[in-house]
Amino acid sequence: MVHLPIYYQVKDRPCMVVGGGEVATRKAELLLRRAARVIVVAPRISFRLRSLSETGVITHVGREFKPDDLREAWLAFAATDDPEINVTVARHARRLGVPVNVADDPASCTFIMPSIIERAPVQIAVSTGGASPVLARLLRARLETLIPAAYGRLAAIMAEFRDRARLRFDDPTARRRFWERILQGPIAEMLFAGRERAAITALTREFDAESPGPKLVGEVYLVGAGPGDPDLLTFRALRLMQQADVVLYDRLVAAAVLDLVRKDAERIYVGKESSRHSVPQHEIHRKLIELARQGQRVLRLKGGDPFIFGRGGEEIDTLSAEGIPFQVVPGITAAAGCACYAGIPLTHRDYAQSCVFVTGHLKEGSLDLNWDALVQPRQTIAVYMGLQGLALLCQGLLSHGMAAETPVALIQQGTTPSQRVIIGNLNSMPSHTQDESIRAPLMVIVGEVVRLHEKLAWFNSAGRSADTGSTGTADHTGIIEKV
Ligand code: SAH
Repeated sequence: MVHLPIYYQVKDRPCMVVGGGEVATRKAELLLRRAARVIVVAPRISFRLRSLSETGVITHVGREFKPDDLREAWLAFAATDDPEINVTVARHARRLGVPVNVADDPASCTFIMPSIIERAPVQIAVSTGGASPVLARLLRARLETLIPAAYGRLAAIMAEFRDRARLRFDDPTARRRFWERILQGPIAEMLFAGRERAAITALTREFDAESPGPKLVGEVYLVGAGPGDPDLLTFRALRLMQQADVVLYDRLVAAAVLDLVRKDAERIYVGKESSRHSVPQHEIHRKLIELARQGQRVLRLKGGDPFIFGRGGEEIDTLSAEGIPFQVVPGITAAAGCACYAGIPLTHRDYAQSCVFVTGHLKEGSLDLNWDALVQPRQTIAVYMGLQGLALLCQGLLSHGMAAETPVALIQQGTTPSQRVIIGNLNSMPSHTQDESIRAPLMVIVGEVVRLHEKLAWFNSAGRSADTGSTGTADHTGIIEKV
């Protein structure tokens, strides 16, 4: 990186635009929106520039550029359609120490223009350092959709209340918390919904309250981190991850997801291996309560969805009994994520009208499943924690009448760069479980829909080499092994 992103004050400053065409017009308007004093130098100018000049909004110098034009300039845009003139402008500007931007000529620029998302007074500038203006524009388009139009109004109202907040809260942490609560709470929502007056009344009331400011109460966010790919997080998950003071996370939470937690948040590993409980559940409950009571915002980050084989229900049950505020954010559960990334639709009009999620966790060496409910036509079975009991699962389904050719997919580390998919059937799969390279986390999907992966697999797992030493074959979609 060689560019420093800064916001340059141009209000009432003389800013030069050399050129009078479309690009020059855009630059002039960009400057005008920031209250700059715009001087356009060009023998001919666009209709728009002419009307701005006639109403005295800009100054038009109707001739070719002369080096002296730059003497007073605060910055300059060279935007003529003649590259030679542009280079000349740039050369003189550099000599005079005037920041200069040349349209379509990064080498001549001393500053480049970012793509801008405008929510005045909020501005977001996106730059690829000149590498790809198209990429910057695409990023900008994405951000435009993420940021409510009323953000600008929100910022403006916050600015009006800033001094009052400073008087009200001496402690910067208390002040930050206060604003975070307002910005993420019902008052901001009122504003986004266009109820500006109600929002201002509510905010005023926050300051009028007799009490010495809200007590710092902790809170627990029970958040689903999805199956691994960080792109599968929800916006809300990400927002809460960014504001938590401390995070308790599981073994299943991918490192790439954990990286998105606020950098200075304390990280506590409470992972459990299916056979070995490294931190007992009651200990996790105790920790959550203790941290929240200290006034901390505690992020309880769980793989997949917190309410699907995640014991999330138990955790918030305890919190609720202790009167600790909490919120729950759903995540993409492993069955949905793995199936999708393996090109297996869990339901399909022609193959499956229902899908059941079961745990294949062994209890005292056996599987406690409702076999008759599982062995149903046109039904997909998604089995969590099914690695150890895989052979028993296949045998159980077979002995309860499921056809031996029923396809089975094993998806290991689904949605991550190490994703591996093994396809077989109820007959072939059990012998394959001896393969020591098959490891947790593993999702097992049983049903006719598995056949669709042949056509629908799309995810290229880049991290795993095709040579896994197995009997299977790898195809264009990365690793798909057949057994
Ligand atoms: N709450 C989680 C499930 C926890 S149980 C969710 O909703 O996804 C843990 C099991 O989930 C693992 O044993 C495995 O069967 C499955 N699992 C989780 N992440 C996985 C992944 N990336 N790939 C394959 N299976 C996964």
